[in-house]
Amino acid sequence: MKEQQKNNWTIEDAERIYGVSRWGGGYFHIGDNGNVQVTPDPTNTEMRIDFKAVIDEIKQEGIQLPVVVRFHDVLRSQVEQLNRTFDQTITEAEYQGEYNGVYPVKVNQMREVVEEIVDAGKPFNYGLEAGSKAELIAVLAYNTNESSLTILNGYKDEEFMRLALLGTKLGRKMIVVVEKYSELLLLVKIAKELGVEPHVGVRSKMTVKGRGKWEGSGGDRAKFGLTITEIIKAARYLESEGLGHCLELLHFHIGSQLTDIRSVKEAISEGGRIYSELHKMGFTLQYVDVGGGLGIDYDGSKSTNDSSRNYTMAEYVADVVYGMKEVCDLEGVPHPTLVSESGRAITAHHSCVIMEIVGEIRSNSAEIDTAPADGEHIFVTNIRDLYLSIDHHPNLQELFNDASEYKERAVDAFKLRVLSLEELGKIETLYWQIMVELQQRFRSIEFVPEELQDLDYNLSSQYLCNFSVFQSAADTWAIDQLLPVVPLTRMDQEPTVNCSLVDITCDSDGKIDQFTIERGISDVLPVHKLNKGEPYPMGLFLTGAYQDVMGDMHNLFGRLNEVHIFSYDDDPQDFYIEEVVKGSSVNDVLGVMQYNTQGMATDVKRLIDKHVASGGMKPREGVRWTDFYESCLAGYTYMKTN
Ligand SMILES: *Cc1c(COP(=O)(O)O)cnc(C)c1O
Repeated sequence: MKEQQKNNWTIEDAERIYGVSRWGGGYFHIGDNGNVQVTPDPTNTEMRIDFKAVIDEIKQEGIQLPVVVRFHDVLRSQVEQLNRTFDQTITEAEYQGEYNGVYPVKVNQMREVVEEIVDAGKPFNYGLEAGSKAELIAVLAYNTNESSLTILNGYKDEEFMRLALLGTKLGRKMIVVVEKYSELLLLVKIAKELGVEPHVGVRSKMTVKGRGKWEGSGGDRAKFGLTITEIIKAARYLESEGLGHCLELLHFHIGSQLTDIRSVKEAISEGGRIYSELHKMGFTLQYVDVGGGLGIDYDGSKSTNDSSRNYTMAEYVADVVYGMKEVCDLEGVPHPTLVSESGRAITAHHSCVIMEIVGEIRSNSAEIDTAPADGEHIFVTNIRDLYLSIDHHPNLQELFNDASEYKERAVDAFKLRVLSLEELGKIETLYWQIMVELQQRFRSIEFVPEELQDLDYNLSSQYLCNFSVFQSAADTWAIDQLLPVVPLTRMDQEPTVNCSLVDITCDSDGKIDQFTIERGISDVLPVHKLNKGEPYPMGLFLTGAYQDVMGDMHNLFGRLNEVHIFSYDDDPQDFYIEEVVKGSSVNDVLGVMQYNTQGMATDVKRLIDKHVASGGMKPREGVRWTDFYESCLAGYTYMKTN
């Protein structure tokens, strides 16, 4: 923020700093009015939903922030984009097979999300993938399109196999992907018992590893999949059981959020070779499933950063289609039907969290009078003299060192009972006044000494934000996943404060101090000064993949209120709220932890009654307190701000 003094701040400046269009995937922009806006259908840019309007409506309906906002049109648009891109590329490449994608429900299992994806995917026969028994049970009921695939990954027990074969009996295309050799024996045994022919897939442990945070999904020590030897053994076993033709699919998944397109190319050529060889051995598999991994550009850098990727969806699809075609043509085998299991790319953009700033924490926010006092300690006099000398001090670095040293020595002196509390307070006040002055001076200097580079961070504010990192941005805490956070309004004004964000949990890890801004990743985010009485909403974006469903109960905050938004051309604001899903109440979260909340309410009432009976409280007041306790029990777990 070197250009602080610039007055003619424009929306372009805001875009440069916050990069909303860089990570927005064509969906998010800064409007001319300074508010962040959504274009839920990138082919219809006329339709723009203003976040401010969404917030106003949410509040009008009496829904408390923070809320998760889901844009169903974004979800549909992503499903269509992926399927269209595959279809177009297949036509262009004169690829002989089709695309039959599936959505892996573990990425976001919310019923509304799954329903929307199934519905949007119908014209493309887009199916679902399940990776656990519970997911299979859901998918069996929800993948209603009989022409689409249901792919079953993950470790499986006997019940799992029975459920899968039930699906097969009912005419669904259920493909059981063998992750572990013994699963095949179990599947064949139960299939024979039920008299159903299973559709079998094998997952290959690939030698190629994806780069990025999930590279452990590939390689010899991968948790899932069969080695080449096991794949051959599995094929031969099926053959010996008279079920060789049931081996229909080869699966691989080398990791999520693949940052480098090279690993996609390598996986396709390795997988393509295995498919071809199996074919030549007489196993005419119909499908090759390339797994997930299609990345999201969370930081907008189009690079191989962990939170980015150096390719587009179109480039990814081209590498899959052309890569497979090339291998198959060389080997003289038919082009398989392509399956992919992109979850992150389908869901990341569709949801975000709207949260409000409820306060500011600054190390230098309070000041006390530092005027000289009779007989004051020499440290106080020294640091005051230092402060007064700033204007003509020859060496600011030296001044910084001296001030820091005085402050350290003052703390020691205080512990030794040489310095009074009041004197220590004066030294602290003067120290921060010096730091603020130094920061001003270093703003206009290109080369800032190393020790002083932390000055911005140390002097930055912490904005206290009404949300829980553990609930809404679990990966930010667990694996340093970067998610874009920006103010939703006032983008037409210059941000003059640097801040990091802290949440309302009692955990020091409950913070966000990694932001994507103009010059890359920064530990502070430029924001606006808070105006008294005026809400300052922020948006946490790209939370639709994994974050939405991974939240935990840290500090008993629980699930957020949710609003489901549909775009609607005829509405003046271009949208309507289709559904509101209430978040966790205090009752809910305590219940999960085995509390008997009704009993608690009775106990507290009894206490209050006793107090009233003994004359410590008027009866009316007692009733009010009882009602208050009960209404808090029934209320939202987050801070009440509206
Ligand atoms: C998690 C997972 C996916 C989804 O991967 P994304 O990177 O989110 O697209 C796909 N397939 C399997 C087997 C998975 O475990």
